[in-house]
Amino acid sequence: MNIAENLQRLKKSIPDHVSIVSVSKQQPVALLMEAYQAGQRVFGENKAQELALKQFQLPNDIAWHFIGHLQTNKVRQLAPFISLIHSIDRLSLLTEVNKEAAKNSRVIDCLLQFHIATEETKFGMNIEEARVLLESDGYHACANIRITGVMGMSSFSDNTDLVRKEFQCLHDYFLTLKRLFFNQQRSFEVISMGMSGDYQIAIEEGSTMVRIGTAIFGERKY
Ligand SMILES: *Cc1c(COP(=O)(O)O)cnc(C)c1O
Repeated sequence: MNIAENLQRLKKSIPDHVSIVSVSKQQPVALLMEAYQAGQRVFGENKAQELALKQFQLPNDIAWHFIGHLQTNKVRQLAPFISLIHSIDRLSLLTEVNKEAAKNSRVIDCLLQFHIATEETKFGMNIEEARVLLESDGYHACANIRITGVMGMSSFSDNTDLVRKEFQCLHDYFLTLKRLFFNQQRSFEVISMGMSGDYQIAIEEGSTMVRIGTAIFGERKY
């Protein structure tokens, strides 16, 4: 498994306007360093503690993305440095991020996570819940967060028609929210969808950010 080669191959197969988050969860720091030395600067993790530990050990020009389910009591750990939180799925989480961002004199970029898969176990809102959130006073009082787009995970399935429909659904949500709430905000531009197994379909359906783990680092080890 050569990480530099994997990254190079991946970049060749992905258009320039699509950014790559290298998902390094459960991978040892040495492998992240290999990706770093191959030029990769954006890493995604799904556990706050693990992310904070790795951030401490690795160079500080890395942009760290949080891509997992986030408990409010873990936000404080991430707030000083996190670059993008992909997994905002409720107002209480957003207000917590806002509070901790303010303490650090930062504005933290966030994506709204949508439930687009058939599995019950995947987190995320539906479009109505997102509307309620974006119309709430609580959201309007948040001066230290900026919503820059949407994120979703497709079903774990070989049925490519199903996966494609789910990505189309997320793209539609993005366009709806853009029209209703973010028409004047150019930075609302991120559609985070696509993983190692389905990123080609995701890109065909409008992804601007893919989250790739296995295809870069190989199988997760611990
Ligand atoms: C693990 C994970 C990925 C990467 O999955 P791979 O199949 O290894 O590419 C992407 N997004 C999220 C939210 C994940 O938890």
